[in-house]
Amino acid sequence: MSTIDGLPPLREVIARHDLRAKKQLGQNFLLDLNLTAKIARAAGDLTGCDVIEVGPGPGGLTRGLLAEGARHVLAIEKDARALPALAEISDAYPGRLTVINGDALEIDPLAHLTPPIRIVANLPYNVGTELLIRWLTPAAWPPFWQSLTLMFQKEVAERIVARPGGKAYGRLAVLAQWRSDARIVMTLPPEAFVPAPKIHSAVVHLTALPEPRYPADPAVLNRVVAAGFNQRRKMLRASLKGLHPRIEELLLEAGIAPTARAEEIGLEQFCALARGLAAAPR
Ligand code: SAM
Repeated sequence: MSTIDGLPPLREVIARHDLRAKKQLGQNFLLDLNLTAKIARAAGDLTGCDVIEVGPGPGGLTRGLLAEGARHVLAIEKDARALPALAEISDAYPGRLTVINGDALEIDPLAHLTPPIRIVANLPYNVGTELLIRWLTPAAWPPFWQSLTLMFQKEVAERIVARPGGKAYGRLAVLAQWRSDARIVMTLPPEAFVPAPKIHSAVVHLTALPEPRYPADPAVLNRVVAAGFNQRRKMLRASLKGLHPRIEELLLEAGIAPTARAEEIGLEQFCALARGLAAAPR
């Protein structure tokens, strides 16, 4: 059977290289090349961009990214079994695919890349949130990446784009939305993957804003949000009490009722409170 890029179908690649999915590596593969091309397109215009892909596995999404014109793909894969399959893709796209065999949590990909950089990945669920938080909290803003297009469990995707007022709204939403535009661009049923996971999945696209939506010191904002949501059922005057002896006053100055709970508070108010705290003498 022929494919859109002339390389063998993924089922054949998986069988030939004996890439049986390993649960501990979060392996749920996408085999439909039309779908992987669609995810690649959701990342925006890839021509002229270097792309980081975490966890290429047998290479379905990698092929989508290359077929959609990525200048260069740097793929980081922990499972050495996938390397021969990825080498075949590299041969078909000379000079455009670099594969690093290692743990994405330990590798600094920047040495290998030239901006603009986009990150696109069907993430292993066990490391997805940790990687996202790292990408959202670099030492300086704007970050090294222009956009993130990432597959998550649907429930995690909903937490990233959540607005105030519901259970999904929390630290992840504030972190993501303070300095980027975040939206769900696709949802996928379990059957889209082999093997099928128990849950639905969704692709989130985040575009880095040139500047934060509202000014605030990242460390102070993080402290406020962590304290507020760690005890999300408590009123803010109680959950934030450890942050400042005059917290009730600072809440009022930021336009926040001291009796409100963290999940009712929007980004603008959290940032106002962070600024007030940073400026308040102890
Ligand atoms: N991109 C492929 C696809 O869409 O079919 C595979 C996605 S699968 C959900 C996740 C991939 O991440 C697997 O290939 C797995 O081996 C790899 N992986 C798991 N943990 C990793 C880590 N810490 N660093 C790099 N790759 C990892």
